[in-house]
Amino acid sequence: MPAKRKAEGRNLSTPAAHRRGGLRPIEQGDWNMAYLFPEEIAEARAATGLVILPIAPIEWHGPHLAMGCDNLLAHAFARELARQLRCPYYPPLFIGTEREREPRLLKSIGFKGDEFIEGMDFPGNSVGSAYYREEVFAAVVRDTLNILFERMGFSRILIINGHGALNQKEVLTRLCSEYNAGMKRGKRVIWVYPGFPAALLGTGIGHADASEASLLSASFPECVDLSRLPGAGRLKNTRFGVVDGKTFDGSPTRHHTVRDKDDPRKHTDADLGKQYLARAVKEALRQVKKSLLPK
Ligand SMILES: [Zn+2]
Repeated sequence: MPAKRKAEGRNLSTPAAHRRGGLRPIEQGDWNMAYLFPEEIAEARAATGLVILPIAPIEWHGPHLAMGCDNLLAHAFARELARQLRCPYYPPLFIGTEREREPRLLKSIGFKGDEFIEGMDFPGNSVGSAYYREEVFAAVVRDTLNILFERMGFSRILIINGHGALNQKEVLTRLCSEYNAGMKRGKRVIWVYPGFPAALLGTGIGHADASEASLLSASFPECVDLSRLPGAGRLKNTRFGVVDGKTFDGSPTRHHTVRDKDDPRKHTDADLGKQYLARAVKEALRQVKKSLLPK
């Protein structure tokens, strides 16, 4: 059937015509590397040398937030920064690490203090978090940096770290200083938090509280369901795995419950989350221009 073959041939030479799925992610401002053709990656690399790497684990975030929360926030932040910087971002790396909590912090949260509890994996949770051992986490991040620098040829990396564990931050800071050693002008790699403006970071960040729920509902509203928390009564830290920033800083409430102003049921606000995100994007762009891409 020559007529049909001819028609098919014409379709193949007209890219838009044989596409069934609508716009490509890049055409909608999403620079996720997984959806880019090699020439597109090479062109972007030639323009800035920059690539973004979002990192965070699957982790318990109370019954009301999806377990990907930290990574979803890192993903949304990476997507927005990549769009503005016109550079690719690596597909979100679902990895993170944690350590056993110190007795003082356990007591602040409402435990006895002698339990062995890692991160947010409280004994009453129905599902555990995907915490990798610290040395595994460090090795995977190191290998990913090597892939992006050596194999893929990028010269600058912005890590978006969605998980606030102390040892996770320490590993990233250590790797950054190692990779930046000897750099005279501009660093090779830095890491930032996703969506939390500096003002918020200064006051100590809570876990699965109103701020985090606001940020998540700004980018992934379908991943927040407040009706999964009890309708009334204070939220006990130990029972729900929701903890406010002050408690993490060592000042719990009398009954070890989430403070009213941090209660996600009362103060989750997607518009506020969007404002946080916009401010944090501006701050991160400033940091990238100052530290990674100095003129
Ligand atoms: Zn989180």
